[in-house]
Amino acid sequence: MDDHFISAIDPPQEKSEPAWWFVFIVHTLIVREEGEALSVPFIQDLSTLGVQPIREWYLGTLNGHHCYCAEASENISLPEGMVSYGLRYLYGRIEESLHKIAMRSSHIIAWDRTDRYCSRCRTEMNRAKGMRAKECPSCGFLSFPRISPAVIVLIERDKRVLLARVKRFTAELYSVLAGFVEPGESLEEAAKREIEEEVGIRIRNIRYFGSQPWPFPDSLMIGFTAEYESGEITIDETEISDAGWFDPDNLPTIPGKISIARQLIDWCTGKTKRKEYSSVEEREKIRSSRMITIVT
Ligand SMILES: [Zn+2]
Repeated sequence: MDDHFISAIDPPQEKSEPAWWFVFIVHTLIVREEGEALSVPFIQDLSTLGVQPIREWYLGTLNGHHCYCAEASENISLPEGMVSYGLRYLYGRIEESLHKIAMRSSHIIAWDRTDRYCSRCRTEMNRAKGMRAKECPSCGFLSFPRISPAVIVLIERDKRVLLARVKRFTAELYSVLAGFVEPGESLEEAAKREIEEEVGIRIRNIRYFGSQPWPFPDSLMIGFTAEYESGEITIDETEISDAGWFDPDNLPTIPGKISIARQLIDWCTGKTKRKEYSSVEEREKIRSSRMITIVT
């Protein structure tokens, strides 16, 4: 793929050419809907959409075209053909390179909305020069978009994977376990602690898999694979309603393809099934399904 995004802070002097506009109404992104096809607005400025932005940030360029994000009022009435959808729904329905920038935009907009006042002296903050940050005009405190690291771990035991149903999931869904990193912990320590706390087992051979920005609202998911070492599953009932070892051929409902959780499960499923395929063609199919596109 040739898509090349270059992050930048300072916008061009004028909005004189069409640009990609990632405009949110609360948590939903405004897109053009033509039949089944959805697309991100590629327009000169927001007047085309009849939007007076509450906030607006320049993002950089995608293949040489400027990109902006903005937030519109909840009460706006959109022009004919324009609708707004959540980012999970839009995954796979708009181009992947644009979806990545939409994820980035969502994070920046949420930060801008939340971090308006200095957390040290409560003065309203201004934009800092030359960086994606805000600066307190009174005490000089700098606020950057917060990024909260969380580990997510796929555990294998005799070709089966550990999946759990987490109580906060609204859907009847099983996934790999995840948790936030605590101050002072390495990622590997966080992975071990989280697994022991949630399901009471010990893991070994923890290997980095990949990472994914997860702006719901501000996480960075850091994926690992690990092997079962010892212990029996004992679930933390405050967080988890069920957990077990699942055969890759007989999985419960798992998360959608947008998530690194699904990429971990697909990778593991592809790996265990690989031996069953004999022809080169079939092997290629599995190999390409294992090539992971991490949203960066
Ligand atoms: Zn201050």
